[in-house]
Amino acid sequence: MRAATPLLWALGACSGSGDRRSVDVLVITVDTLRHDVIDAPGYAELAARGTRFTEATTPFPRTTPALASMWTGLLPARHGSQEVGEPVKHGVSVVRLFQEAGYTTLAMSGSGVAGPKQGLDDGFEVFEVVSDPRAHAGADLARDLLPWSPDGPVLLWVHLTDPHFPYLPEEALDAPVCRELGERAADRELSRAAVFGDRDGVSSMALEDCRVLYAAEAAAAADQISGLVEALDDPVVVLTSDHGEALGEWGLFYEHGPHVHDSAVRVPLLVAGPGVPEGETRETLVQLQDVGPTLLRLAGLPVPEDLDGQDLFEASPRDHVAAVSGSALHPTLTGVLRAGRASKRNCLHVTPYSLCTDGFFDHQADPTHRTDLTGTLPLVEGPMARAAEAWPAERARQLMVRTATHKLVATPWAFGVQHNLYALPDEDTPVRDTRLEAELRALLPSQPGEGEEGDEEALRALGYVE
Ligand SMILES: [Zn+2]
Repeated sequence: MRAATPLLWALGACSGSGDRRSVDVLVITVDTLRHDVIDAPGYAELAARGTRFTEATTPFPRTTPALASMWTGLLPARHGSQEVGEPVKHGVSVVRLFQEAGYTTLAMSGSGVAGPKQGLDDGFEVFEVVSDPRAHAGADLARDLLPWSPDGPVLLWVHLTDPHFPYLPEEALDAPVCRELGERAADRELSRAAVFGDRDGVSSMALEDCRVLYAAEAAAAADQISGLVEALDDPVVVLTSDHGEALGEWGLFYEHGPHVHDSAVRVPLLVAGPGVPEGETRETLVQLQDVGPTLLRLAGLPVPEDLDGQDLFEASPRDHVAAVSGSALHPTLTGVLRAGRASKRNCLHVTPYSLCTDGFFDHQADPTHRTDLTGTLPLVEGPMARAAEAWPAERARQLMVRTATHKLVATPWAFGVQHNLYALPDEDTPVRDTRLEAELRALLPSQPGEGEEGDEEALRALGYVE
């Protein structure tokens, strides 16, 4: 608890009307936190004190667009950030509304793609970006931001990055295969594309160990929750993530973004504090853009109309949510139609071939694209060139719509779009239901347009640009 608060109370100096001072707000986002690893004590304690939303999703499984949706209350198609590092173009952060209402607004982000360069500082008086990925370091810095004598309530956002790959927890754990994989990736000895695409089985071999290390990083973030909560004055607390993480689902390892599998799209979401039901679990279909409006309502502030988000505790919940995948970014990652970004090296893949901006390759025989086969296989290269025109790099995304029971996934392939309907939670074997599929197809989001480049330096730091 901040030292000054009890004194302000005693003097009755907190507000002119004599009402209780506005409630403090704490938002903790843990980057890359899967929905199913929140059994660590720190998360469980918070859940017991508040409400847990078990069916929360992100509208876009990449950092910048997801966090932009959380703070603007808008879907990525409206706020305009549709790739990691791509700045927010439209919309007003709800943080600015808190600031205008007299809040001291503070943020600590551990990610170079979740900060001022992307416009995520909108409304924050102080916004610190730190590169130390350790959760305790981020939490310490966030607490240091809190003023000793604030003359009003505080909104504090803490974005911790611990569970992001490589998983290298400080805790000494016996998981040598994954630790070595993470160290080789951190040293750039092994490319991210090789890891994420499981080249030569390098990632699937480490899965058991990686689960251990990933859980340890998630737990390290959980350990910081109570200290942050106690640094504020009985705050409203939101704990969530920007996106999950694939641990082998649909062939993707230790990465998130290029697909809309639930491992990447579902996020944990806990809300606690004044005005929030304690010890409840809700299965309503909620999404990150609902966080902003909920915080405003819990703080007694007006909620703007025309947001895509709605109060998490809304009496009439949605019957579906939708999401768009990111682009794959890694030109040698297979299993996706397109990898890479619009104006950088990118490739269209039709196994086993890859038609890239710098040549034509057999990615199975030659995964690092050393031998250019341009002109040697015209019967393959010709149709692939036409498909590449039909699918610009920024548009080859997976789209999904998800109800309480089913999920429809639209996957671009070279010559069209494949639709698969799944009866959740099974996402391995599609089911047939022509009528339901037709209904859900009408609800799929649209493909994003040509995107702008994100911040190359920040992407490089995360290993997204090689
Ligand atoms: Zn992220």
